[in-house]
Amino acid sequence: MHVLIDELRETHNLPDEAIRQLLETGDGSAVQYLHDSAREISQGAFGRTVKLRALIEWSNVCRNDCLYCGIRRSNTGVTRYTLAKDEILACCEHAWNLGLKTFVLQGGENPAAAKALAPTVAEMRASWPEAAITLSLGELPYDTYALLRRSGANRYLLRHESASPRLYARLHPAEMRLENRLACLRTLRELGYETGAGMMVGAPFQTVEDLVEDLRFLHDFQPDMVGVGPFVPHPDTPLGTSPAGSVSLTLRIYSILRLMLPHANIPSTTALSSLRADARTAGILAGANVLMPNFTPLRVRASYDLYSGKNASGVEAEENLQRIQQELNKIQYSYV
Ligand code: SAH
Repeated sequence: MHVLIDELRETHNLPDEAIRQLLETGDGSAVQYLHDSAREISQGAFGRTVKLRALIEWSNVCRNDCLYCGIRRSNTGVTRYTLAKDEILACCEHAWNLGLKTFVLQGGENPAAAKALAPTVAEMRASWPEAAITLSLGELPYDTYALLRRSGANRYLLRHESASPRLYARLHPAEMRLENRLACLRTLRELGYETGAGMMVGAPFQTVEDLVEDLRFLHDFQPDMVGVGPFVPHPDTPLGTSPAGSVSLTLRIYSILRLMLPHANIPSTTALSSLRADARTAGILAGANVLMPNFTPLRVRASYDLYSGKNASGVEAEENLQRIQQELNKIQYSYV
């Protein structure tokens, strides 16, 4: 197994069968070697630092009905909200004053509202010329992606969710098509966005072969960023009684991704920390290099409820940053 890990580290690639073995091995020393190798590469690229991104959950209005997601349109229990321009700018101001230089606007898929966000993005760009502006607003028409890009957005996160057509179809209603999602990812890249893809680990019906397919897709697509977190059930969804994904498998995937994509930005995700208290730093030690503290106003925070436990730590950004700092201190890391 060590030989495979060395090969992955050197060539940034492995045959599918070898990836499957890395995902499935019960050999603890091999898993340790995988994490150690990924951490070395990560420290070589980024030092003992993590990058922070200010997450602003812009809206929970969504036209889609993804079977796993708490803000799916069929969930009538959700109080829907969309942040106004001034609120978004206040969140950015708050984040900037605390030293965060990347703003991430995430929300449900709502094309008309996303288009109407262009003036806000333009104002963010004008107010913070040095900032990175990341959007994560789902599948939008070409013209809207282009408009938002011209308005000053420069990164876009669109998890592919699953590269396996069979699994994609089990997790999404028929009107959602994997081809469309992949076409959106290619468009975003063409438009000059730094582009992020990714998937959930341990989604219902997911097999190890599906994860191999995801890793193959990520290897071939070479995204700038990769968002991967465990599936966490939300009780008000059709998949609400399925078990959560595994923390240790998620960590293993961070390490494989780090060796495959040495310079990619890989967040240690909120979904991961919702499952295990020390998971945030475990993600960093496995090769992730980004954390995304939440700057969404507390007023609406509980309504952006993608999965259960997500808002367990509904604390103000300052407090969250302090906790992050303390956790990073313990592993002799700091944030930038
Ligand atoms: N509407 C945007 C943003 C989606 S929410 C889009 O379509 O890209 C961000 C991510 O949360 C999703 O891509 C999905 O992978 C993740 N997510 C949704 N429900 C989840 C759940 N129950 N458990 C874990 N992650 C979930």
